[in-house]
Amino acid sequence: MSAHEFTIKTTELDAGGKDYSHAIRVAWMRGALEDHEANPTGTEGRVAFRASKSGHDVVVHGTIDAALRVPCARCLEDVDIDVHADVSVLYVPGSKVKDTPKDAEVEYTLEDAEADTLPYDGETVVLDDLVRDELLLGLPMIPLCSDDCPGMSPAPGVGAMSAPETRDIDPRLAPLLAFQGKTTKI
Ligand SMILES: [Zn+2]
Repeated sequence: MSAHEFTIKTTELDAGGKDYSHAIRVAWMRGALEDHEANPTGTEGRVAFRASKSGHDVVVHGTIDAALRVPCARCLEDVDIDVHADVSVLYVPGSKVKDTPKDAEVEYTLEDAEADTLPYDGETVVLDDLVRDELLLGLPMIPLCSDDCPGMSPAPGVGAMSAPETRDIDPRLAPLLAFQGKTTKI
């Protein structure tokens, strides 16, 4: 990745804060989501936030809105989902968060009260990862084109009686769906 898309220079900020509003470009979303099933719909999203300085830390509050296209979990047709996320993050200079051992501990700290504390290099806050993660987190675990989607039509010659129950997701898919919901680690 070359240049970052969403950045805040701390030199622009004071305690009073500053408002930002950026389009989330379709091309950026396509790149950021390329390892995922989600795709942009062709419509730009919007990031709007207020950033202010608190000592060396930077407080960011705002909203992320975008439309994403994902396959319906039952019939695999495209579904457009409006994702909205409220974000509230404290960015602290990188050296202050290095107390945690750099192993699986990092994964753990995301779950606890520090969830909304992220590191930055002390000069420029980069929101790209936050925006991408929030877009993915905003997607439903089981996206459906409609609540009563009948699922894929049975292949010709297959009797309706033998069709699996379509109201529910096949339990064998549950681990896959759960896995899909997590950020790819490797
Ligand atoms: Zn469907």
